[in-house]
Amino acid sequence: MDNYEKAIRILTGTLNSQTSTTTTASTNVTTGKTIPVGISNRHIHLSQQDLNKLFGTGHQLTKLKDLSQPGQFACKETVILCGPKGAIEKVRILGPVRSHTQIEILASDTFKLGVKAPVRLSGQLDGTPGITVIGPNGSIETEDGLIIAQRHIHMLPSQAAAFNVQDGENVTIEFTGLRGGVLNNVIIRAKENSGLECHIDTEEANALGVKPGTPITIKK
Ligand SMILES: [Zn+2]
Repeated sequence: MDNYEKAIRILTGTLNSQTSTTTTASTNVTTGKTIPVGISNRHIHLSQQDLNKLFGTGHQLTKLKDLSQPGQFACKETVILCGPKGAIEKVRILGPVRSHTQIEILASDTFKLGVKAPVRLSGQLDGTPGITVIGPNGSIETEDGLIIAQRHIHMLPSQAAAFNVQDGENVTIEFTGLRGGVLNNVIIRAKENSGLECHIDTEEANALGVKPGTPITIKK
């Protein structure tokens, strides 16, 4: 029993010292300029034309919740993605409608679907493949628009100046924590009407043990 108690005390002591190390690390982070993380699952942005085909003419998207970027929202509506090897159900639509349909999937989804998808920034769709999308009212075969999202950081131009970065710049970010690490090739998206947030996908977040809101720092 004595040995057991001793072991507990050693373990508790270890835990305490680990906790204080973590606290110190996060204190250091918060004293610098940090950015919260937003984690994206697979999703789709639809044009009104494609929304009409999938949900019926004139369909209006139903807002489920607002997203961090002003005016952007997750919708109640979902679709099915279908590739030669399989389908993925309940893929969330993000609103509002856009001029061009864009489908953002996870790297592992390319194996489930049996398709290839390049890593791209939102809107950079030249030469990207298409995919079959199924809704309650019909299906579409997109000509292009299937991508794995390139990780990026949204910020205002004034915040970019404060972080000493520019729109389009490729930076490295660092995560603290048990699975922490460094990610290269994170693109700065500095535009008016932006909310400060670093966007990575669920696979990147899981690999690094990151939760929504976890602060990151930019390393240059
Ligand atoms: Zn984003």
